[in-house]
Amino acid sequence: MRRKLVAGNWKMNGSADSIRGLLQGIREGAAAVAGVELAVFPPFVYLGLVEQQLSGTPIAWGTQNLSEHAAGAYTGEVAGPMLCDFHCAYVIVGHSERRTLYGESDQIVARKFAAARKAGLKPILCVGETLAEREQGVTEAVVERQLEAVLDLEGIGAFADAVIAYEPVWAIGTGRNATPQQAQDVHAFIRSKLADLDPTVASQTRILYGGSMKAANAAELLAMPDIDGGLVGGASLEAKEFLAIAKAGC
Ligand code: PEP
Repeated sequence: MRRKLVAGNWKMNGSADSIRGLLQGIREGAAAVAGVELAVFPPFVYLGLVEQQLSGTPIAWGTQNLSEHAAGAYTGEVAGPMLCDFHCAYVIVGHSERRTLYGESDQIVARKFAAARKAGLKPILCVGETLAEREQGVTEAVVERQLEAVLDLEGIGAFADAVIAYEPVWAIGTGRNATPQQAQDVHAFIRSKLADLDPTVASQTRILYGGSMKAANAAELLAMPDIDGGLVGGASLEAKEFLAIAKAGC
């Protein structure tokens, strides 16, 4: 049985004050959505604050990115072992904004996935097609290519405790979510690719949906058999909305 995970990607938003308020709201409402795992992903500089506010609660935290290297002369980068100092559980790798704005190739993403695991962090691997790719009918080929880069480097065993997030690029931050059936079809495809290699791992891997998920559409998305939670951007910046999404998954 896969426990649903609702993860809030705060992107480059927030201040110490706003984050204190947001976390207080999430902490207060967490007990009511205990059936679902919650996790938040602040900007790096607020990790200490998040750790301080969430230690001892059931809410997990992590970051939106990490370096593929463990240490060294990489100005401006943050390494996996550093994230462990702040007791992060997860790290997002391959978010479409990293792929498109910062030129992260499938191979770089795969190396980041490996670096996360080496540090003892659970990677959340984001995959998904652009609107042009969907219209060309190559959604499955794109997702398969993104997945294979990681499978080639790390093998199927690496997915036993990793998470995958299917995030159609055309749905991120646009207010236009994939329909439950569109998302389910891709989630089932991803699971079938994992099952070709190891059916047990495939049945355990959580596959989240991301792309304009909000309280109003969460219940029907989360009701689909292969949707195991959500990676939520904009709607995770308000405690009430974030908790309502989680409630829909209970
Ligand atoms: C995201 O950034 O991962 C995301 C899904 O954003 P939004 O929910 O705002 O579309």
